[in-house]
Amino acid sequence: MIDKSLLIAAEGLKGGQVQELVFSLPPEALDLVSEKELTFGPVTIHGTAQVEEDILLIDAKVQLDVKLLCSFCAEGFSLPITLPHVKCQEALSGLEYGHFDLGEFVRQTILLELPLYPLCGGKTCLHRKKVEKYLKKDAAEEHFHPFAGL
Ligand SMILES: [Zn+2]
Repeated sequence: MIDKSLLIAAEGLKGGQVQELVFSLPPEALDLVSEKELTFGPVTIHGTAQVEEDILLIDAKVQLDVKLLCSFCAEGFSLPITLPHVKCQEALSGLEYGHFDLGEFVRQTILLELPLYPLCGGKTCLHRKKVEKYLKKDAAEEHFHPFAGL
């Protein structure tokens, strides 16, 4: 269940005021469910919401740390995610009951940022050499050893 305090009453911003968005939330507040391969840390949101010509404009910085398993060596590692300018434009006419669901929007944005093949060194696995050595050894052991029985 997404935190209701993340619903932005966009109609109320028609007068030109800027709403400050300052949230520090447990991941559960954004329906981010941790699993064995993926653990979400607390999420911070800093930004603004305003309405210009019946369009709701959101510009926010989103930060969190996630813990992932490297897809190569299977070691757990921490990945900081910082999105300096998460932006959104929504026509007021398209909003349900005049509310914008910031929580759902941030949730989707975070999920899109997660790497499909997480690697502990970012672009590469830090233990690649070690893991490859084991892989080679395993392959070699499958070969026929003609003198193994002597
Ligand atoms: Zn790795």
